[in-house]
Amino acid sequence: MLTKELRQEALKKGFHYPKVEKSVEFYRTKNLMIYDFVCEESAVVRVCISKQHAGIYDVLNSIWKDCTLENYLEDPNQFTNYMLSECAKKLLKTDSLFFDSKASFAIDAQIRKAKNWKKINQKENREKEIKKIMAGTNKPVPSGFKIFSEKLLCSAKRIMYSAKEKSLYCPECGNTFQLPDVPKKGSLHTCPACGYSTKVSSAQYLNDIHWSYIVQAAGKRSIIRYFCNELFIEYGKCSTILYEKYRTIVEEDGSMVPLMQTSEGWKDYKGKNYSYFYTVPKREVPNDMYLYGTVEALMKMPALKNSMLDVWVKQHIGADKKLCSEYLVENYIKVYAQTTIYEKLLKHGLNKIAHEAAFYYDSSFHKNEEKVDKFLNLTKGNLDRLREFIPDPSGSNVSAMRYLEKYNVYLKDDELKTFLRLEVSDNMKEQIVKFCKCKKVTLYKINKYVTENANADWSSYFDYIGWTEELDYKKSDSVYYPKKFFKTHDRVFKELEEKKDAIQRKKDKEISKKIADLWEQRMQIPQYHYENNDLFVMMPHGTSDLKKEGRSLNHCVAGYKEFVAEEKTQIFFIRKKAAPQKSFYTLEIKNHDIEQCHGKNNVNMTEEIRAFAYGFLNQLKTIKEKPAVRAAA
Ligand SMILES: [Zn+2]
Repeated sequence: MLTKELRQEALKKGFHYPKVEKSVEFYRTKNLMIYDFVCEESAVVRVCISKQHAGIYDVLNSIWKDCTLENYLEDPNQFTNYMLSECAKKLLKTDSLFFDSKASFAIDAQIRKAKNWKKINQKENREKEIKKIMAGTNKPVPSGFKIFSEKLLCSAKRIMYSAKEKSLYCPECGNTFQLPDVPKKGSLHTCPACGYSTKVSSAQYLNDIHWSYIVQAAGKRSIIRYFCNELFIEYGKCSTILYEKYRTIVEEDGSMVPLMQTSEGWKDYKGKNYSYFYTVPKREVPNDMYLYGTVEALMKMPALKNSMLDVWVKQHIGADKKLCSEYLVENYIKVYAQTTIYEKLLKHGLNKIAHEAAFYYDSSFHKNEEKVDKFLNLTKGNLDRLREFIPDPSGSNVSAMRYLEKYNVYLKDDELKTFLRLEVSDNMKEQIVKFCKCKKVTLYKINKYVTENANADWSSYFDYIGWTEELDYKKSDSVYYPKKFFKTHDRVFKELEEKKDAIQRKKDKEISKKIADLWEQRMQIPQYHYENNDLFVMMPHGTSDLKKEGRSLNHCVAGYKEFVAEEKTQIFFIRKKAAPQKSFYTLEIKNHDIEQCHGKNNVNMTEEIRAFAYGFLNQLKTIKEKPAVRAAA
């Protein structure tokens, strides 16, 4: 919308145009371009456009509108027979004498441009910036890179068979040679002209895509350039295209500018963080990337000079040195640049932890700490001790050491070795350490017992210990180390189940009693008695009533017993007078409303039942609030 000042400026000039019939007039003020749509000597619509604003003035109604002309006009043909003034023609870049859709479109383009001025301006500024950033990075690629990229497509090449020509086409040399019989699917053929040998395809065409990338120096910066290689073969034609689609400029400090090439030139590339679970078209995103050159060359990037990152990267590439994963190199640089801790870890030879800390979530590392021991959350002494046994430990090894520190448990050398090698989860390791501490037992003893008697099944062992505690077993060696572990394990489990059942039965009894009491209370209240000619309402008298109802109607009302007992909800049985013992519909009333009402197999209410249920609900609503009821009872 135009500012107040601009609106004042727009209305300075009057609307009167002597002797003008139907015309689109144009004039400029200090800040505005103005189109007046004139009808019988007076402007009826005034379109005003400044550099960053636009507005349309409805002269007859004296109203401003903030929209395009297209949206303003109720009838798109309202001004079609209006003449265009010379000035208007020039501004709208049209030769037409009359106002037409093309002129209308041109005005709207001017309005939109003004409205989006900020965005367009930003975009233009960014384009200028990108041009500056790109300067000096348009390096020629070595010829070897083209050969390398083309080779990636070799495995997809086939000698093509044409049934119409009854001949084969060699994609290597372009020769064709006669073949009277249809070739067997997948059979091998050798080109008589060049000796190229591969399988035959009778497909109409073949298409394959691979990505290759190259790292180049550009002054003190480095550029990572991603090329898409596309192969297309049909009988008589074989072509490969190689084009650069993405380029990341790595500054000396490791910061990066990712760019993508579009039909409108180089733009910021923001869509890089796609999910692994989302399949992206091969042509769109480098699904597989092959590095041209060696990792050593890669490490010559100024951003990585004097860094240990090479150690790390080398560890995570295959022997063939193809860095295949999506944007792997960039990801390494990115996490590496975040903090100096990775550099320190690598310099200490803690390569595994550096990798885990960078790429996996592990809350046990203190990610904001820049000192190795603080980062690992482990004293230097314990870290040194750990590394006597495992020079390049994992995060899990560090956790194990940390538990010993936390519970102040000291293990002798051979015990520590055994402990670190245990193939159990980190949580289980903590449980083991805790057990050693609380039960005052050596790791040697407990490990020997669990290995020899419980098949090294630590989780079953701790389950068992937990049950004995629930059952208040006396603490003794015969409890902790039973002779026949699995037999004892099963017996104790059964015992615990029985105890739990007994508790549940007792609880059920209490619930049942509460429900019976409620029944007693409510029967005193007249509103709880409800019936019509065919139906009547019943209340459960205990949990067994709810169970029976649930069983005969095949639904889950029995599960509501606790809520019913605690008066969090109310359950009623709607029965037929003709068959009072037979379950029919179950009604739940909660918060003074019908929560649900179902018949057999959870069928919904019929109209008749609905009317009956709501009749009952309305009657219940006439009960006075609870304290009053209690007082009456
Ligand atoms: Zn050939």
